[in-house]
Amino acid sequence: MTAGRHFLQIPGPSNVPDRILRAIDFPTMDHRGPAFAEVGQKALEGMRGIFRTKGRVVIYPSSGTGAWEAALVNTLSPGDRVLMYETGHFAWLWSRLAERLGLRPETIVGDWRRGADPDAIEERLRADADHSIKAVCVVHNETSTGAVSPIAEVRRALDAAGHPALLMVDTISSLGSVDYRHDEWGVDVGISGSQKGLMLPPGLSFNAISDKAWQAARDARLPKAYWSWEEMEEPNSKGYFPYTPATNLLYGLNEAIDMLAEEGLENVFARHARHGAAARASVEAWGLEVLCARPEDRSPVLTAVLMPEGHSADAFRATTLANYDMSLGNGLSKVADRVFRIGHLGDFNDLMLCGTLAGVEMGLRDAGVPYRAGGLAAAMDELGATRQGQAPGAEAARGRKAGAR
Ligand SMILES: *Cc1c(COP(=O)(O)O)cnc(C)c1O
Repeated sequence: MTAGRHFLQIPGPSNVPDRILRAIDFPTMDHRGPAFAEVGQKALEGMRGIFRTKGRVVIYPSSGTGAWEAALVNTLSPGDRVLMYETGHFAWLWSRLAERLGLRPETIVGDWRRGADPDAIEERLRADADHSIKAVCVVHNETSTGAVSPIAEVRRALDAAGHPALLMVDTISSLGSVDYRHDEWGVDVGISGSQKGLMLPPGLSFNAISDKAWQAARDARLPKAYWSWEEMEEPNSKGYFPYTPATNLLYGLNEAIDMLAEEGLENVFARHARHGAAARASVEAWGLEVLCARPEDRSPVLTAVLMPEGHSADAFRATTLANYDMSLGNGLSKVADRVFRIGHLGDFNDLMLCGTLAGVEMGLRDAGVPYRAGGLAAAMDELGATRQGQAPGAEAARGRKAGAR
């Protein structure tokens, strides 16, 4: 029996704010009735703003994995080669999925400690003189390692190689928390999910689609039915869906769209960047190592921490759960039991971060992990030092909303 709020500090699902929970707690309506069109239209239009695209967005009632599959089956044909950059566990899962669909993934294997290397991508594409590679797939924020890939530079790599492959980007754990610009960066398919930066429960996923990807869909021959973009087009144009959408999650999504607009996307990104820096200040002060080795790639959304040699990350996480009712992310596949991950994304503020880091610091002590005290204090210093640096609009927007309630 535990009193008070559970700390859900895994890097997705993130904490669902009360405002969104209340928006979801509303009678389910007729998804073919006249009142629904407004709900559907607002969601589809709002997501265009969040993806920063003027193009099409489709919304599925599925986990993020469904949107991965949708991106591939709508644009590609059996046996097509796809270049995948293995930044970590999620990129690896995506390439496995491609393989099971009958595609031929060719993988650039990274060391799971940094983002994708645009030069390596350019080199592979230059070597592909007959353009047999049909898509390049990159994970923007690799949630298993806490590394962000430079998508604008990946775009430049495709252009520099003069290669016509589609660029597909997994933004499942970055959309609504890390700067992402679908149109400006020339991404062809952006893939996302509801339960991370968008602050919703799991259950919605998204494809943002460029004109080029839409054209590619006409000739694509992989079988598709549930995931078909084409089936979405006509009903979506009026705010409806070809099958029953996740009605109540769409209420929640529309609330999330409002919340992100009130704070301002730039302020949302700055808030996450600040929390990422503070979390890393803690890790450094504890004398532990951040998994992401390249400082400029370090994620604003989560921090993966390497355990000291001979200590179990899972045993430590079990201790923080038992003693402080806080869930931390586990190490996935290659780094299982070697790392733990601190999620600092979504509906999150300074004191929630301090509570989280206090829980980690006390957990390190309780679990007998060697560390230096003072990590929480280092984060507090960092938060204090960067307080003024925060864009003034953020507070103003929150104040307005609080007053309105
Ligand atoms: C969470 C996540 C996924 C998987 O999404 P599901 O909703 O679990 O299917 C894929 N990619 C990244 C980067 C993620 O963070």
